[in-house]
Amino acid sequence: MSKINQLQEIIDNSKSIVFFGGAGVSTESGIPDFRSENGIFQSLKKYGDTPENLVSHSYYLDHTEEFFQYYKENLIFKDAKPNPAHTALAELEKAGKLKAIITQNIDGLHQKVGSKNVLELHGSIHRNTCQICGKKYNLDYILESDGIPKCECGGIIKPDVVLYEEPLNNGILNFSADYISQADTLIVGGTSLVVYPAAGLINYFNGETLVLINKSKTPYDNLATLIINDAIGEIFAQIKI
Ligand code: ZN
Repeated sequence: MSKINQLQEIIDNSKSIVFFGGAGVSTESGIPDFRSENGIFQSLKKYGDTPENLVSHSYYLDHTEEFFQYYKENLIFKDAKPNPAHTALAELEKAGKLKAIITQNIDGLHQKVGSKNVLELHGSIHRNTCQICGKKYNLDYILESDGIPKCECGGIIKPDVVLYEEPLNNGILNFSADYISQADTLIVGGTSLVVYPAAGLINYFNGETLVLINKSKTPYDNLATLIINDAIGEIFAQIKI
């Protein structure tokens, strides 16, 4: 049986799927991974620093203007369109088979195609909060601001995106662990599962079927029922919901 057919059969037979996604889910929508080799190369060339430092809490505090310049150039892709993986996952949720999407991406593309229960481990570019009065702002406001985005009260508007050195939201982490522990099938896509918290969360899985869809190997390959080393959008384009 082909791997696509195996995946189709797993999805057909599952009642409670949880999807865990990483950067690879978004790259097929034209959002490059700023932490990739090329991303590191470009950030060193233009900013003299690594992506990890440029989107860190201390860089945000000490070099706020450069932070927003890098952030707008490298983390926001306003015109990115959802790909067949996003669409298929939204349809699976509508069909009652998929219980939650847990994502490390901040682009909001799952919600754009109608997914409802999306746990955003790293926050979202679409939510932004004044650090003084707490007023909320949308993405357009950030993009239209010159330099540092400022609230009408004068406060800096910070994206609700988890920066390096900042803790993840415990509530979201706990919900994610709960969903994973209750799933019969866990589909992990577009992540090599080496970075916290991905590596930790997958240990909560007690279900029957673990599917890994990633272009390269992961440390969990030996636990997987099905491994597909391919682009996740192209795979889901062939699945019938
Ligand atoms: Zn304010």
